Amino acid sequence: MRVLILILIWLNFLTFLFLFDLFSRESFVAFLNIGQGSSVLIYNPRLQMLYDAGPYGFETISEINKLLPFYDRDIDLVFISHPDKDHYGGLFSILERYKVRAIITPPVNSTESGYLQLLKKIKEKNIPLIYLKKGDKIETNFEDILVLNPKPKMFKSDNQNSLVLKVSKNNKTFLLTGDIDYKVERYLVKEYGNILKADYVLLPHHGSKYSSSDIFLKNLGNFFAIIQVGKNKYGHPHKEVINKLEKLKIDYWRTDLNGTLIVK
Ligand SMILES: [Zn+2]
Repeated sequence: MRVLILILIWLNFLTFLFLFDLFSRESFVAFLNIGQGSSVLIYNPRLQMLYDAGPYGFETISEINKLLPFYDRDIDLVFISHPDKDHYGGLFSILERYKVRAIITPPVNSTESGYLQLLKKIKEKNIPLIYLKKGDKIETNFEDILVLNPKPKMFKSDNQNSLVLKVSKNNKTFLLTGDIDYKVERYLVKEYGNILKADYVLLPHHGSKYSSSDIFLKNLGNFFAIIQVGKNKYGHPHKEVINKLEKLKIDYWRTDLNGTLIVK
């Protein structure tokens, strides 16, 4: 009798999981509120991807927990836009909690000690590290992802060599820009023209005044801007950038003031 009850409870639990999964089978992009840094969850029921991991991991994991079923411990692909701590720092905790199948970075050689430690950890865990550059593509059942930057040897700094992705999903397009500056923006406008246009744009470098140039903003079409930002000493987002957005009548979302943005 006791065994039978246990089996019934177990069957009930399985039905619950099945229903939970059925109802949560949506596909979305979430710009996470993780403080000063970047992290975007690109979710579909078959494949979960993270573009940057935020600075510490605690906030990133707590935001992901609100969005994924509690039993889901898979993040299939993690993109690290470039080796800055506010973009990769959270990966240490994420690698402990989630099964990560592969990590994608631009082809850069950083000697920053935290980043070298991360590379060591990735190696210890036998997680494949894949380098992507301009022109590479990823296709899933739900997304087309085109890599627009970096073009190797074109620019020098890590920020300038950020992985810039154009993601097409649910009939919407997203431009994810890392910490690129106005020089890279100008190059992207010249190189890509209309391909740059997107419905949702993660503004480069947390709204720094050295990014979001006029020529860039004017070549993105009608878009909704997202500024991923938290408490910081750099003056992000810069007043000039906010003024520019208001002047150009571009609506924007600040994760520090408005929280996580989920686009379904
Ligand atoms: Zn940054």
